[in-house]
Amino acid sequence: MNLNTIREIKRPRSSDEIRHWQDGYAWLAGGTWLFSEPQIHTHTLIDLETLGWRAIASGPGGIEFAATCKIAELYAFHPPAEWKAGQLIGECCRAFLSSFKIWNEATIGGNIVMSLPAGPMISLTVALEGTYTLLPRDGEAREVRAADFVTGNHANVLERGELLRSIHIPGTALAKSFAFRRSELTHLGRSSVLLIGTRGEPVGGLLLTITAATVKPIQLTFDGIPTAAQLCNAIDAAIPESIYLDDVHGSPAHRRHLTYHYAEQIRQELGA
Ligand SMILES: Cc1cc2nc3c(=O)[nH]c(=O)nc-3n(C[C@H](O)[C@H](O)[C@H](O)COP(=O)(O)OP(=O)(O)OC[C@H]3O[C@@H](n4cnc5c(N)ncnc54)[C@H](O)[C@@H]3O)c2cc1C
Repeated sequence: MNLNTIREIKRPRSSDEIRHWQDGYAWLAGGTWLFSEPQIHTHTLIDLETLGWRAIASGPGGIEFAATCKIAELYAFHPPAEWKAGQLIGECCRAFLSSFKIWNEATIGGNIVMSLPAGPMISLTVALEGTYTLLPRDGEAREVRAADFVTGNHANVLERGELLRSIHIPGTALAKSFAFRRSELTHLGRSSVLLIGTRGEPVGGLLLTITAATVKPIQLTFDGIPTAAQLCNAIDAAIPESIYLDDVHGSPAHRRHLTYHYAEQIRQELGA
């Protein structure tokens, strides 16, 4: 789509060049959402591509993804085999309602900042206990747990003009066993429910991450493997009816039903 309100595109070499944030500015990542609908309040795009951030850096402590890492680059990256939960990268890349454009241009950071319930990069990084580095326009960089970033449907903790710089995934989370469940109403459609369980070996606790079903990610931590009743009680306590999402991709009742159903499957799979 042509954005006919845009008067300028800035191409900074460093994010520090954008000190004084103004109304009408927008960071431009892959542009798959920005160019998909009118942006009548935006007059200046600030292209993140010219920052030249290295997409992926992997070491013994974990993986660092630049916010500008594209989904295609992420999908092509294969973490070491001993990081079993690294397979979640492929699962979550395939969890987009994806087109050629989304696959090749959308970025991890753009998806996280959109903060849509069906954002698979949110599911991935929350389940893998990620930490985001945020760059405010004035002041020091700050770190936020992925689990605390999204606060509602299309809402998050970013301050005005704040930039998501990178995502750190710890090796300890990548080394865990995992179970993945996802539902979509249409073939290759948007996720209506996406649950991920991880468990440290040999007898670690269960970490259950519930996304897409709810307006924001919900994460439940158990010391060991809960009983079926304990799991149900924990979901009851954590998810009031009001935060199950209601849209064309699934009713709250449908999403609620599948949340309990998949959670029990994950409990059994990781408890086996
Ligand atoms: C056909 C189609 C299917 C889609 N399917 C899905 C889907 O299944 N799930 C889903 O969640 N979304 C989906 N989307 C929405 C969107 O395209 C994706 O969320 C995509 O990942 C956004 O990434 P991007 O890099 O293109 O972001 P952009 O469009 O460039 O930016 C999105 C927003 O984030 C801001 N932004 C981007 N990067 C940063 C950063 N590093 N720091 C601060 N702000 C930033 C931008 O200013 C803008 O407000 C879909 C869109 C289309 C058109």
